[in-house]
Amino acid sequence: MVVRFLAGAALADIAAAWAREHRLLAPVREGQAVVYRPWAKDMHPFLGRPPTSSAKEALLPQTENLLTYTYRKDQDDLTRTEVFLAEPVPQEPTLLLGCRPCDARGRTLLDRVLLERGVKDNLYEARRKATLFVTLACERLENTCFCHWTGGGPMSEEGSDVLLFALEADGGGYAAKALTPAGEALLAPLPEASAAAQQELAQKLANPSAAGAEPGPAPDLSGAPQAFLARFDDMDFWMDQSARCLSCGVCTYLCPACSCFNITDENSGMKGKRLRTWDTCMSALYTLEGSGHNPRVSRAHRLRNRVGHKFCYHPQEFPGQGGGQPEFSCTGCGRCIKACPVSVDIRRVVQDLLEKGGRQ
Ligand code: SF4
Ligand code: SF4
Repeated sequence: MVVRFLAGAALADIAAAWAREHRLLAPVREGQAVVYRPWAKDMHPFLGRPPTSSAKEALLPQTENLLTYTYRKDQDDLTRTEVFLAEPVPQEPTLLLGCRPCDARGRTLLDRVLLERGVKDNLYEARRKATLFVTLACERLENTCFCHWTGGGPMSEEGSDVLLFALEADGGGYAAKALTPAGEALLAPLPEASAAAQQELAQKLANPSAAGAEPGPAPDLSGAPQAFLARFDDMDFWMDQSARCLSCGVCTYLCPACSCFNITDENSGMKGKRLRTWDTCMSALYTLEGSGHNPRVSRAHRLRNRVGHKFCYHPQEFPGQGGGQPEFSCTGCGRCIKACPVSVDIRRVVQDLLEKGGRQ
């Protein structure tokens, strides 16, 4: 496949050209955060560090309208009421610029739950089909990154339509590698990478450590599902691990692989809409039943559920997907570690699970 070159100075122009045919979401700096925003004139995409928010929001928005409904009473027979439903299916071509390989892998994990479990989520499916990911390979790993623990890597191609590699050659820019036919069409206006650019790319791929992208050795997590089950009833362990947790839920909201949502109706007279909104299993309200009973009454129960979902229930439900290793519902993006106000570190929890005796 042809490798193309995107000059750094031309990034905003090519993004503007893509934005003419897509709803373009690009990362921009807002204070300390890097967040995706819809393309606007004079916007300057910021690719200098991984976005604070995850790519999930392009496919599974924080809030979306599932349907609108209208009641109409039969004026000749007032005991009869008709209900009219309208379901908005999202079809707008969308392009997410500047996500990282861990985010693109999140797309595969969301597919498992929302497309491959027997019942397809038709809104997610429509958005999924209409959305392209232009991903930037990571050059500098942050101390919270652990994508290689869970089957990914800083230059992983999984889930992306285009993978960009930052280059110094030819005045600085990006080698652009198309990974799907849609990605190839996107790159068609760009020139082929020069021999110097291709050589620099080949060196990076052959020696990622020189580029700062060689992760250290990864612990073997293949025993995590069994270790979790063995620790399931050890509430002292879970109370210890969750002692600092504030139940704020930011770890799940920022996670590219978390997909839990709540559904609420907003009624206004004879019409209304049904909304889907991100939910979090770290909240006490998540499992609060109408009777007042709550099966996950403490933070320890809730952290246990979050860790168990990612490192036990997911690999049990989707066996054989990780290429020899269990597939976890975690891409190792490290966002939950970075954003947690009290520094709960999911790597530490899983390692403690695996260590004989754990932390007691
Ligand atoms: S659990 Fe944490 S590290 Fe894993 S994908 Fe979710 S946010 Fe990233
Ligand atoms: S971000 Fe930290 S404090 Fe907030 S719910 Fe998650 S683990 Fe608990």
